[in-house]
Amino acid sequence: MKNEDKKINRRSFFKSAGMAGLGSVVAASIAKGADANTSDTNDTNKPKVPDIPPAPKPEKIPTRKLGKTGAEVPILSLGFGRPGEQVVLRQALDWGVNYWDTSLFAAKSEQSIGAFLAKNPDLRKDIFLVTKENQSKTTDDLEKCLQTSLKNLNTSYIDLYFGVYMVNDMVRFTDDVKKWAEDAKKRGLIKYFGFTTHQNMPQCLMAASKLDWIDAIMTTYNFRLTQDAAMQEAIEACNKAGIGLIAMKTQGMRQRGPKDPAEAEADKKMIAHFTDRGFTAGQAKIKAVLDDKRISTVCSSMASISMLMTNIAAVLDKTSLTAEDKNVLNRYAQDTCTGYCAACSHICEFLAAGAPVGDIMRAMMYHNSYGDKAGAREVFAQIPAEIQRRLVSIDYSVAELRCPNRMPIGRIVADAAELFSQKSA
Ligand code: SF4
Repeated sequence: MKNEDKKINRRSFFKSAGMAGLGSVVAASIAKGADANTSDTNDTNKPKVPDIPPAPKPEKIPTRKLGKTGAEVPILSLGFGRPGEQVVLRQALDWGVNYWDTSLFAAKSEQSIGAFLAKNPDLRKDIFLVTKENQSKTTDDLEKCLQTSLKNLNTSYIDLYFGVYMVNDMVRFTDDVKKWAEDAKKRGLIKYFGFTTHQNMPQCLMAASKLDWIDAIMTTYNFRLTQDAAMQEAIEACNKAGIGLIAMKTQGMRQRGPKDPAEAEADKKMIAHFTDRGFTAGQAKIKAVLDDKRISTVCSSMASISMLMTNIAAVLDKTSLTAEDKNVLNRYAQDTCTGYCAACSHICEFLAAGAPVGDIMRAMMYHNSYGDKAGAREVFAQIPAEIQRRLVSIDYSVAELRCPNRMPIGRIVADAAELFSQKSA
């Protein structure tokens, strides 16, 4: 995050939250170094658990119902790509961000929550805890994943279990999985069951809307996809079916880098517009998603108190986006679309000899837009070595012609292979 953004965020946070005394608590936390210490990934089996005094409560973060579950969840939820700092967890809870989303894939993040709950068992009831399986092939695998997560998290139940993680199509939605989910509910191990989808979202959402055993879905959704007719239709179908929807990847970050001059100019214009309006571009993008009342909550990875404050400021701020603000975002989406993968991999992967274009694009987004090089390598490393080896020899020209965003797929794949292949690791 840029320094000027931090200044704006801090100022707008205190203005939005209107909290006397909170500044000194945050300042004290930051002075203790808690805010900066976000990368302790080497020794997370023994997380440090400092004594943290509860902070004064800000204005309550609004809540929405999570579909037919009836659960009230805050419109901002805390995602964990990496282990959560104890001070951030405590602060999030005190400020009403009590929906915590982790995963077995990031097991150390589960363990950091487990450490928090071991120290604060009485707070478990205040947290809506969400986690995900990790590439299970059978229901036995699924059961093992759940049991491991329960142990990592130091809890006897999960509020929402994403029992199918990163769905591209519906082949893993078998009767066995349905029976397992119902049984896990009966045993009191999970309250609700759902899945996450990063690719082919409209198709997955639409198919799920016809199943009666899916409670909630976490889906990629952002200001770019609010313009997508198929996505809108699928969201509407889920909404009618009572399926709770959680939005992720709400910033609509690009996969391609470096930016070309026209995209850099589009960035500048868009950022300047929202700075003049008194909030950051990132906050505007969260507002754009929450403007859609069918979305229950926006899940955002917030590794530091600064990031938490930025996003809380966005959801507490009462200023609505104007028609002009929405036009600015729409124009920006169009001007930068060749750098953004819309995750419609059913179009390009078939035309590119089955190359996992969607996963490669995700790795490149982590690398180029989030600056998460380790996360990018992890995603790329999931691609079998034999496929990695032939990626650059595949002809992507037909896939590029059919890509709705006209992405230079071949060039991006070549860049990814160069960045992440074993020999460059
Ligand atoms: S590269 Fe293009 S066709 Fe492939 S998933 Fe991305 S936007 Fe869709």
